[in-house]
Amino acid sequence: MSRIAYVNGAYIPQRDAAIHIEDRAHQLADSVYEGVTIYKGTLTDLNPHFDRLWRSMGELRIAEPMGRAAMRLVLMELVRQNRIQNGFLYLQVSRGTAPRDHAFPDFALPSFTATCKRMDPSLIEQRAQNGVKAITHPDIRWGRCDIKATALLPNVLAKQAAKEAGAFEAVLVDKDGYVTEGSSTNMWIVTKDGTLHTRPTTDNILAGITRMMVMKIAKELSFDVVDEAFTVEAAYTASEMFLTSSTAGAVPIVTLDGKNIADGKVGPVSAALIEAYKMHLDSQV
Ligand code: PMP
Repeated sequence: MSRIAYVNGAYIPQRDAAIHIEDRAHQLADSVYEGVTIYKGTLTDLNPHFDRLWRSMGELRIAEPMGRAAMRLVLMELVRQNRIQNGFLYLQVSRGTAPRDHAFPDFALPSFTATCKRMDPSLIEQRAQNGVKAITHPDIRWGRCDIKATALLPNVLAKQAAKEAGAFEAVLVDKDGYVTEGSSTNMWIVTKDGTLHTRPTTDNILAGITRMMVMKIAKELSFDVVDEAFTVEAAYTASEMFLTSSTAGAVPIVTLDGKNIADGKVGPVSAALIEAYKMHLDSQV
């Protein structure tokens, strides 16, 4: 079955889906996006994703393409037409189409596109069981990483470096040696005293929805959680490390730059959070 995309009001076969050559997303990355997990046919944590999308649009003064209720219906219909049970939905809002000029156009209608794809849930299980490798990489991004904009070249380069090193993710490190986040994930460590550390959400990282949910779950499970930046050194000597994102969920990192984190096996805190996060997903079905 051909995949179906949503493009500015129409559901069309994805192979025919296109945007205008002067869409500002295409020429200037003047656009924002969201990625939402499809779990057992449900769009997971859609409200917080909408909150973040509306915030991103607001920060960049991109007009909303439609209201939230309408967008919810459009996205649910897209999932239905693609008959996806487990997968990932991508949506993007651009400032619209106008003759190329860096400054905002006087008039442009925002353009709204969405696609979705299937994902094999057993991959998530495998990563949860075995953990993944990560490498560190310099964070060379701009000063507003809190906005979920499609200008992702530094993230692309970091992920490619990870791929070439046989790793799942690149851990981005600022000039002072502190971990910011992953190329498309948030980063966590568990210190020897059992405290969870993850960087506070200021303008240099994305406020991950999975980060927010895992933090809530961890507190409910009575873990100590601190919103505090940690160094690469602290990660090397942590008792556990893991990442969070909508696409991947919570995933243990068992080696960083080729060095084992603790004994190089999935730790009990990560395992407990992965289990509880799955229950969080199930509670929405
Ligand atoms: N940081 C970055 C840079 C990301 O691209 C993502 C994924 N969109 C995340 C963190 C994780 O965010 P979420 O949990 O909302 O998917």
